[in-house]
Amino acid sequence: MLQAKYVISAIPPTLCLKINFNPGLPPLRNQLISRVPMGSVIKCMVYYKEAFWRKKDYCGSMIIEDEEAPIGLTLDDTKPDGTVPAIMGYSVF
Ligand SMILES: Cc1cc2nc3c(=O)[nH]c(=O)nc-3n(C[C@H](O)[C@H](O)[C@H](O)COP(=O)(O)OP(=O)(O)OC[C@H]3O[C@@H](n4cnc5c(N)ncnc54)[C@H](O)[C@@H]3O)c2cc1C
Repeated sequence: MLQAKYVISAIPPTLCLKINFNPGLPPLRNQLISRVPMGSVIKCMVYYKEAFWRKKDYCGSMIIEDEEAPIGLTLDDTKPDGTVPAIMGYSVF
């Protein structure tokens, strides 16, 4: 058993349900950790020789609404100085 004046917990909120707190957590905090699910996202990067989309005045953001699509959202992730052209996509499963 460990004793301390303060504890900083940085685990995913929902895992706090497995900890016995004494005194108990405030009711609103308990409601939050009971209802916040764990996320599951994969971040994918595709690198290009040039940011061809910028030449066409596109920003690189896409929202793909097809439920079968592996990627739902993309963003331009090129470095601020224009190097390392890249499109980043999130895959939610
Ligand atoms: C795929 C992906 C891409 C992302 N890309 C970006 C980005 O480009 N820019 C950005 O700003 N944010 C990004 N984020 C979000 C960012 O990663 C999170 O907001 C941030 O990491 C949250 O930090 P945190 O310390 O709250 O949680 P976490 O970083 O998740 O830390 C939680 C810690 O708890 C530990 N843990 C879990 N279970 C236990 C246990 N039972 N016992 C002990 N320890 C445990 C874990 O090992 C982990 O170290 C991304 C997230 C994902 C999933």
